[in-house]
Amino acid sequence: MAAGSAIQIPSRLPLLLTHEGVLLPGSTMRTSVDSPRNMQLVRSRLLKGTSLRSTIIGVIPNTSDPTSDCDDLPSLHRIGTAALAVQVVGSNWPKPHYTLLVTGLCRFQILQLLKEKPYPVAEVEQLDRLEQFTNQHKSEEELGELSEQFYKYAVQILDAVRLEERFKMTIPLLVRQIEGLKLLQKTRKPKQDDDKRVVAIRPNRRINHIPSTTEDEEEEEDHDDVVMLEKKIRTSSMSEQALKVCLKEIKRLKKMPQSMPEYALTRNYLELMVELPWNKSTKDRLEIRAARILLDNDHYAMEKLKKRVLEYLAVRQLKNNLKGPILCFVGPPGVGKTSVGRSIAKTLGREFHRIALGGVCDQSDIRGHRRTYVGSMPGRIINGLKTVGVNNPVFLLDEVDKLGKSLQGDPAAALLEVLDPEQNHSFTDHYLNVAFDLSQVLFIATANTTATIPPALLDRMEIIQVPGYTQEEKIEIAHRHLIPKQLEQHGLTPQQIQIPQVTTLDIITRYTREAGVRSLDRKLGAICRAVAVKVAEGQHKETKPDRAEVGEGEDCKEHVTEDAKTESISDTADLALPPEMPILIDFHALKDILGPPMYEMEVSERLSQPGVAIGLAWTPLGGEIMFVEASRMDGEGQLTLTGQLGDVMKESAHLAISWLRSNAKRYQLTNASGSFDLLDNTDIHLHFPAGAVTKDGPSAGVTIVTCLASLFSGRLVCSDVAMTGEITLRGLVLPVGGIKDKVLAAHRAGLKRVIIPQRNEKDLEEIAVNIRQDLTFVLASCLDEVLNAAFDGGFAVKPRVERLNSKL
Ligand code: ADP
Repeated sequence: MAAGSAIQIPSRLPLLLTHEGVLLPGSTMRTSVDSPRNMQLVRSRLLKGTSLRSTIIGVIPNTSDPTSDCDDLPSLHRIGTAALAVQVVGSNWPKPHYTLLVTGLCRFQILQLLKEKPYPVAEVEQLDRLEQFTNQHKSEEELGELSEQFYKYAVQILDAVRLEERFKMTIPLLVRQIEGLKLLQKTRKPKQDDDKRVVAIRPNRRINHIPSTTEDEEEEEDHDDVVMLEKKIRTSSMSEQALKVCLKEIKRLKKMPQSMPEYALTRNYLELMVELPWNKSTKDRLEIRAARILLDNDHYAMEKLKKRVLEYLAVRQLKNNLKGPILCFVGPPGVGKTSVGRSIAKTLGREFHRIALGGVCDQSDIRGHRRTYVGSMPGRIINGLKTVGVNNPVFLLDEVDKLGKSLQGDPAAALLEVLDPEQNHSFTDHYLNVAFDLSQVLFIATANTTATIPPALLDRMEIIQVPGYTQEEKIEIAHRHLIPKQLEQHGLTPQQIQIPQVTTLDIITRYTREAGVRSLDRKLGAICRAVAVKVAEGQHKETKPDRAEVGEGEDCKEHVTEDAKTESISDTADLALPPEMPILIDFHALKDILGPPMYEMEVSERLSQPGVAIGLAWTPLGGEIMFVEASRMDGEGQLTLTGQLGDVMKESAHLAISWLRSNAKRYQLTNASGSFDLLDNTDIHLHFPAGAVTKDGPSAGVTIVTCLASLFSGRLVCSDVAMTGEITLRGLVLPVGGIKDKVLAAHRAGLKRVIIPQRNEKDLEEIAVNIRQDLTFVLASCLDEVLNAAFDGGFAVKPRVERLNSKL
């Protein structure tokens, strides 16, 4: 084939059907040949013996399914490319096939299929003429992923016989392809050795004169960004030390190829540095009187806490600095600790940010990772500052009692530095690696218990106890705060739903058992959701029953308050509301929405056998009543204890048994075989039904004694009495902690009498008068008094021989 001469192709061509690509005139393609039809063509037309015979064949793109039965000839594409077979390579792996290298010469059109088998031969008409044919062909390897898309469009292009039409079609495709490649390159961040290839591709693009953003322009853009960043750094108000570090880093950034992973790291770092509120703060607007009103408006009850918070704020106002202890609110969940923190921020006009510390056991959570790590990040303090965008927010360190410890360092130690007013003006996060001034941040902490707060941390804080609420307080909180909030969240109005106080009380006593109001809030949310569905359904009703039907024949009627009645009747004119409104939540509705009550008081039922007594326990979640159960069986004097209890509790059990054994005769307590030696041939099993929290502490002593006294005497403990108190081996009752929470728990459970140690009498003053009025308190200084109060008609005592040693 001589260059410069026009090509004339034969009028009959054997046809090679290719799946792999579309051969265009002037291009070269390597194609794998493995179908029997194509293999036959190659063998008889191209190979004579083992050598290649230069032959022109027709190449037709096979658009049918390549896996379909290859016996029948598929319908053929009308236009194909006459091609010169340049090379044939045979191979047996993975199955016998030829690899054929063909160069396209010109287009042809099939006029008539002359034969189908063993391979198709057609009569063809040449469509275009290759004026100049050179045997040069570029390796297609560099085309890489282009080929896939190319194939899709090539069949189109093949059909475009006129040159002008072909240009029009190809240019937009090429432009798109180049854009695509650029994106691909960006996302892949090619390694440095790939860079050469990128450079190699570039000149071609210039030759093509394709109007698109070139990579140079892109780099320029990035360069502009870096210049902008530098400008931001210079104009930001960061500390001198930070500025120095940033300028050094930006210098490095400018020299760094973008493809380096460190480029992104450095850039992120610099962007964070610019974003941090080095000098940005909100103006405090503290007015104590307004603060008091705001705190009162947001929170019902919790007088002691509000008082202390106001004092704290007042001192701050006078002193005009934040040095001083950090407030730490300690109390059960859902008593409003977080919420008060938020109110403090509101009073001061400061931003609020909560940092949850529960489960944090790595110091880098507080102090950040060094930037040498991949994926390193600043700690929560710096992150919080970035989020709020000012340097004087209120940070609520939530659940400081749940900080963990691990090999990655002690987060409490890092926190100490954060909270220490002497140090925190130059807090250094590992990621930032320069000091940031935290002295304007107002820290407040919360915890459920002080027991697990690291002592050094505890030392920095002023503890304010936030006790649980009484039922009355809960009702008020629900109606003043929780219900209005829930209504708003669910898009409901008081004209649509009404929750009478009796219902709230039902929720509190029968559906929740908690010191705070979190479950109560959730239950109210569930009610609002259910009502929202009813209201939404009601709004689509077309016919509305007569208004006179409101509430009629419903059990809920008994709960309709006077207010509710007037409201529903006066609303008759308001036709936008369905007539069933307001939906009244009575106990029936409650059962329907929340299911059957979870805490029906089964106290008397459980106390219907000897060997059960009610104790009062304090847990970080508030006070709880606790049924202590005992049973005895034949054995060798073993004591078995079960339930979630700690070591001190186990010791109390041993003390109780020893005291009872030594006093068995006096109280006429005997084992099953009538012996005063209570453990003779007898095993005792004591069970403390498991709550959510492990109980420990000595305060179950009196309850264990009472429970065992009941077991060995066969008498029932009064079902309305609960007790708490530590015991000594000689039968004295010692004071215990958490009296207020415990008494509240007994009140919640509907008990009437509470036995507490005599020396805890002063703690009763903390309890609201109305609660105290509901209960009878027995102040006991020795176990005799406890037992006398715990059993109806007292607990018979044989006249004592020896007197109680008054020294004990
Ligand atoms: P804690 O932080 O103690 O676990 P939260 O502050 O999250 O409790 O309080 C739970 C919910 O109960 C919040 O919606 C809060 O507003 C509400 N709440 C708690 N106590 C009161 C209160 N005394 N007055 C008004 N709302 C309260």
